[in-house]
Amino acid sequence: MLTRPPQLPAALAGASPKPYWLDQAGAPAPLPPLRGTVQADVAVIGGGFSGLWTALLAKERDPGRDVVLVEGRRIAWAGTGRNGGFCSASLTHGLGNGLERFPEEIETLEWLGRENLDQIEHAIRRYGINCDFRRSGELAVATEPWQVEDLAAVAEAAIRLGGQADVLDAAAVRQELNSPTYLGGLWLRDSCALVDPARLAWGLRRACLAAGVRIYEHTPVLAIGERGAELVLTTPTGQVQAQKAALAAGAFAPLLRRLRHYVVPVYDYVLMTRPLSPAQLASIGWRNRQGVADGSNQFHYYRLTADDRILWGGYDAVYYFGSQIAARLDQRPATFATLAAHFYSTFPQLDGLEFTHSWGGVIDTCSRFCAFYGTARSGRIAYVAGYTGLGVGASRFGANVLLDLLSGEETERTQLQMVRSKPLPFPPEPARSIGIGLTRWSLARADARAGRRNAWLRALDGIGLGFDT
Ligand SMILES: Cc1cc2nc3c(=O)[nH]c(=O)nc-3n(C[C@H](O)[C@H](O)[C@H](O)COP(=O)(O)OP(=O)(O)OC[C@H]3O[C@@H](n4cnc5c(N)ncnc54)[C@H](O)[C@@H]3O)c2cc1C
Repeated sequence: MLTRPPQLPAALAGASPKPYWLDQAGAPAPLPPLRGTVQADVAVIGGGFSGLWTALLAKERDPGRDVVLVEGRRIAWAGTGRNGGFCSASLTHGLGNGLERFPEEIETLEWLGRENLDQIEHAIRRYGINCDFRRSGELAVATEPWQVEDLAAVAEAAIRLGGQADVLDAAAVRQELNSPTYLGGLWLRDSCALVDPARLAWGLRRACLAAGVRIYEHTPVLAIGERGAELVLTTPTGQVQAQKAALAAGAFAPLLRRLRHYVVPVYDYVLMTRPLSPAQLASIGWRNRQGVADGSNQFHYYRLTADDRILWGGYDAVYYFGSQIAARLDQRPATFATLAAHFYSTFPQLDGLEFTHSWGGVIDTCSRFCAFYGTARSGRIAYVAGYTGLGVGASRFGANVLLDLLSGEETERTQLQMVRSKPLPFPPEPARSIGIGLTRWSLARADARAGRRNAWLRALDGIGLGFDT
């Protein structure tokens, strides 16, 4: 059981209220906003991983194509520059969710996901992107007896589908990472890499510019209109006239009305410690530097950085009434205090270690927990959204889907049920926040009651809305 130690305020007192990754040296200077009218073959809306990969792959497919990317604020300022940096091979928000929702094509999805991760690694090498990309795998740790029971079945499924997985008992998992809270674990060796997400995004931005993509920052698209065969993207001080557009705008006020029903913004919060001394690092082990997540419904995720800090996030997932997104919501002291308490309970050896950064960010959550796709305006717009907190790796696959859809060609990707189907929509307010609140409460209760799911969660499971980590 995780408890709250007494020294919390002091350990959090010096934390800067900003994302660690975006607070590093080496951030590129902003590119000027769009002024006037420009023409493009393809316009990409959004400068997160989804938009950056779409622009870069559009150029790789056809270097002669004229590509413009417009970003409302700064490249990578949103989820892309704030995440845990777990670059997973999974396209389905984990194998369990994939097996549940797409049992007939999970084998193909797993294969495509591993290929996608390989391609990300190749691109990082080819473009010389210095982003601390490491294929260190993921350690799923069980901190309650009921979580141990699932490990063997998950390992068996992962191996059957071509992955590498080792079940570890309490002693073996503590050999990897020494926490008294661990009762067992699963080392998924090849399914995840760790990355510095801001440096990856800045590197992709550089690669885009070198390939000839024109990028405009501080250029929000206010509306998408049509003039004859052309799309017209209106911005505060200009417009983009384009043949095709890729909409990769994450959780933000959707430009297409239909997306409002499918995506809700949910806040996720993160702490970063100061760098561990060699003695502190030795006290916890972690020689193989895996990314770690525990098996609770309200789970924590954590990892080391290149300079031996620990990023520690997750647990609370907070939805604000009316699908609010606002800078003030990036800070949530109560969640930071809870996260810090859980950190010290997990690693009592690091008692008193201070946190240097605390931040939150918005997750584009959909009811099936993995991205969905579609087209609008007679196929001239393709969109993706709904990565639900696992889009660092999957966004490159999603970018290829967008380009396939815009090309009008049938491909292995566009034939997937995952690409052709949509999640169930969320109801409007107030049912939306009541439903999300009840789900959150029920998941916390399940964690406290040996994983037992109440009637509400079982009902959600029954209609395919169940969330199982
Ligand atoms: C705290 C946190 C932790 C996470 N941890 C992980 C993790 O460890 N692993 C993982 O795989 N995923 C994680 N995620 C999710 C991951 O960050 C995203 O799935 C991923 O970055 C994909 O981003 P995106 O490009 O789709 O969206 P975003 O990064 O949100 O980018 C969308 C961009 O579109 C721009 N935009 C929106 N509307 C407009 C408009 N009208 N005009 C112009 N521009 C517009 C926005 O300004 C924004 O820059 C995490 C997310 C958060 C918030």
